[in-house]
Amino acid sequence: MPSVFHNYIDGRLVEAKSGKTFPDVNPADTDETVGLFQASTVEDVDAAFAAALKAQPAWAALPAPRRGEYLFKAAEILESRLAKLGEEMTREEGKTLPESKGEVKRAINIFRYFGGEGARQFSYQIPSERENVFCYTMRKALGVVGLITPWNFPSAIPAWKMAPALVAGNTVVIKPASLAPLSGYRLVEALHEAGVPAGVLNYVAGSGGAVGNVIVDHPALRALSFTGSCDVGNQLNAKMAARKVRSQFEMGGKNPTIVLKDADLDAAADILVNGAFFSTGQKCTACSRAIIEKPIYDSLADKLVEKTKKLKVGNGLDPAVAIGPAVDANQLETDLRYIEIGKQEGARLLCGGHRLSGGAYDKGFFIEPTIFDGVMPEMRIAQEEIFGPVLALMVANGFDDAMRLANGVKFGLSASIVSKDLTRVHQFINRIEAGLITVNLPTAGVEYQLPFGGTKESSFGMREQGPAALDFYTETRTVYLKYA
Ligand code: NAP
Repeated sequence: MPSVFHNYIDGRLVEAKSGKTFPDVNPADTDETVGLFQASTVEDVDAAFAAALKAQPAWAALPAPRRGEYLFKAAEILESRLAKLGEEMTREEGKTLPESKGEVKRAINIFRYFGGEGARQFSYQIPSERENVFCYTMRKALGVVGLITPWNFPSAIPAWKMAPALVAGNTVVIKPASLAPLSGYRLVEALHEAGVPAGVLNYVAGSGGAVGNVIVDHPALRALSFTGSCDVGNQLNAKMAARKVRSQFEMGGKNPTIVLKDADLDAAADILVNGAFFSTGQKCTACSRAIIEKPIYDSLADKLVEKTKKLKVGNGLDPAVAIGPAVDANQLETDLRYIEIGKQEGARLLCGGHRLSGGAYDKGFFIEPTIFDGVMPEMRIAQEEIFGPVLALMVANGFDDAMRLANGVKFGLSASIVSKDLTRVHQFINRIEAGLITVNLPTAGVEYQLPFGGTKESSFGMREQGPAALDFYTETRTVYLKYA
């Protein structure tokens, strides 16, 4: 019988008022239910908000460095459990064990970084133009913040929202993704064990419609941080704008890697394979378009196919496996549907393109990493987010054409270039329409201590992570104090 995981409201583990649960299923082995989570409804969200509202004034009154100490303590607890939590993440989300452990480590680093922010909540002291007037700004917590997170980074994303929200003095109601609620639960458990006071942090599992919507509509909500698809994010953004509630939305991408003709082709192939296929292409920062200068196109395509065919697909718990499954049947179906669309649009399959079957593959949602050749910019596989291991190769006739192709989508999350030509690299940095820019590195693999976010349809609102995070989770107040 799978373990049952409760909601965490007002410092206690509680069942949903509906009395119902939903399963968290292993995408590599659907015979395994990793856990049963609460199918919460409006009453549970109301209880979480009531607890968060009650706890907020005392939490905000605690000196910020002391709030940070809870994060340090929780980081220690998580570190002592890293191996177990990594394995759990692989079982609920499918990514490989090194990727899962790396993500838990990242959550730990995030807790430590924002623990330190307790002692670094800088503001400004600015000279007044009047005599004997002292002017400064101060940060003030917002109140109760709602956090809605996706399944693809089930530990890191809840961590990078919860930690700055809490250290800034807000109280939190968090709803994890239904496909991978356990990893976020483990963070909440560690914060509870670290002694975070009752009501400060509240975790409510359940569907987007039944829980997410209620969080968004709740009258006590003072800020919303959402990461997920553009479809859902845009709907919520419209609601938040009408309510004038502070909000940030991190959404989809169609991230390009440009490879210029001077590039080291082996390095470029490694960068592309890593960016496009690791985590089964299920990263918002994954590369889905390789834009390659014509003189090196064929040689690089050959290298890419050779390297891709060597990637072993399977259960992420197997150390030989490089690519885990799609997260569920729907995502697998989306990947396969886009592969069919690509073929119908006239792109040529260079490798992959199929669901894997037979033996252990029949128990999960496994798909071959797939490369399309001859992709034209107007094709849907060049324009729409697939969120699977599907890479579109596009020919560029020179640098300007590469920039035109790279910027010719509605998204603008991350982008990379592979080149030794410093002039071109700087031109790329200046002209690319993306919030996250990498050079001679994959589009994915960003770090917690730097601001994170995109442009165009990928993101809306202030940046997350790094020093930028506190700007979202606090309000700036300006004080003019006449002292004589
Ligand atoms: P999603 O379907 O939009 O779901 C995201 C979260 O929103 C989940 O917790 C979901 O709950 C909830 N939700 C769904 N409908 C809702 C509603 N009507 N009201 C309130 N909440 C609702 O996205 P996903 O499939 O989990 O994640 C994949 C997407 O996230 C991709 O597009 C990817 O690019 C994007 N992503 C972006 C970033 C970034 O930082 N830019 C990072 C990671 C992922 P349920 O789970 O219960 O449906």
